[in-house]
Amino acid sequence: MTTIAFIGLGHMGNPMAANLVRAGHKVLGVDLLPENLETARANGVEVKDSAEAAVADAGIVITMLPAGKHVLSVYESIAASARKGALFIDSSTIDVASARKAHEIAQANGLLSVDAPVSGGIGGAAAGTLTFMVGGSAEAFTKAEPILDPMAGRIVHCGEPGNGQAAKICNNMILGISMIGVSEAFTLAEKLGLSHQALFDVASTSSGQCWSLTTYCPVPGPVAASPANNAYKPGFAAALMLKDLELSQEAARSVGAATPLGAHAKDLYEAFGAAGNEGTDFSGIINFLRDSRRE
Ligand code: NAD
Repeated sequence: MTTIAFIGLGHMGNPMAANLVRAGHKVLGVDLLPENLETARANGVEVKDSAEAAVADAGIVITMLPAGKHVLSVYESIAASARKGALFIDSSTIDVASARKAHEIAQANGLLSVDAPVSGGIGGAAAGTLTFMVGGSAEAFTKAEPILDPMAGRIVHCGEPGNGQAAKICNNMILGISMIGVSEAFTLAEKLGLSHQALFDVASTSSGQCWSLTTYCPVPGPVAASPANNAYKPGFAAALMLKDLELSQEAARSVGAATPLGAHAKDLYEAFGAAGNEGTDFSGIINFLRDSRRE
């Protein structure tokens, strides 16, 4: 049994912490929202009043927070009071520059650290099947792996500090672009008189095959579990897709990488969200594209 401080018990953090409790760890939890702390308590997490109090007793510190500024502010406030040699695992999705800064704070305070963002959403967090993309030294990765295991379906060491975040935003840029591509194909098919099922039957076994089509099909019918069959309830909300596309564009600008489709996908998700769809599943963009007029 390891004592683990878990900071950020929201939609993702709470089910992840529950899986650590189920695996036999002692989990000390912190959040700003009383209702999230109630859920954590019910899941067997020992609730603490402050991050400082939680980390004082913990060999492992996990953060699952909204953005880079939250992670850096928490790291700055607790790094000095953490046990020397403790391992900090940040599983939030944040910008690569903040992730690298968080590693620097940890290193300056004699701590090990990994950035370990996840893919798999709230369902994967509950089922303990998240994919973790991990950046950090071999020593930190080796120590992190058995801790991540009860929350994970797959754990990939992506290399240097910050590379977990790099993998996450590159993956989600593919996802944002591919969902728009699949959605455009279905809206074109509709206008050409081709049924959803016929296009699905062909493309799902042809060169157009991809996750956005076969697992998360944006039209109702072909894939029973996709949010299209559940009034586009998330799933993965459009606001989170926009966040990840913005991170990809920030990273692309910082290194001078050309990502024209990523940039356009970001603009389309921005317009989709601004039209009142921030809480809609990101695959709902098909309805927005269908309603757009061809110029
Ligand atoms: P959330 O808003 O539900 O949870 C974040 C939690 O952090 C909140 O409960 C908030 O009260 C808490 N918090 C903020 N500042 C804090 C502080 N200083 N101290 C303690 N607690 C603090 O968000 P979420 O959906 O759980 O997402 C968390 C992270 O995971 C984000 O970076 C998100 O991009 C990423 N992510 C989310 C999903 C998803 O499907 N929701 C999937 C993959 C990755």
